[in-house]
Formats: sequence, structure tokens, C-alpha cells
Amino acid sequence: MREIRMHCPRGHKEMAVKRTEKNVLFRGVRLSIPVEQFVCPECGVEAGTVEQTAAIQKSITNAYRKSVGVLTGKEIF
Ligand SMILES: [Zn+2]
Repeated sequence: MREIRMHCPRGHKEMAVKRTEKNVLFRGVRLSIPVEQFVCPECGVEAGTVEQTAAIQKSITNAYRKSVGVLTGKEIF
């Protein structure tokens, strides 16, 4: 595992990695996805690395497919 450090863009201290669940609206479907991001303990601003952002995008796509699959069965693929 690589250790990544990120500092708050607003000039605060080092940010901490935080795992949360987020509700996002994607193509009209509400999805709950796991999110890992850096959060500033002082001002709460959130920032993600390129890897984290890519992982979030992937989670959204997977959750969307699952959700749509449940609704429409085999019609999509
Ligand atoms: Zn901050």
C-alpha cells in the first residue's frame, strides 16, 4: 500500500482518510456507494486522489448496473 498524504487546500493541516457511504443520483437512479476520501479535520473540506476518484466512479457504475439489473432483468445486456 502506498501512503498518500494530502494537505488541506485552505491552508490547514494534514487531511485524514475517511470512509463513508454517499448517496448519489446517477442517471435518475439514487445509489448508495462506499466512498474513501481525504477530509480536513478543521474545515471538513473533502478531496480525493485520482485513484480515489476513479474508484468512486467505478462504484457508482457498478451500483447503477446492479440497480438497473434488478429492475429490468436480462433486457439490458
Ligand atoms: Zn481545512
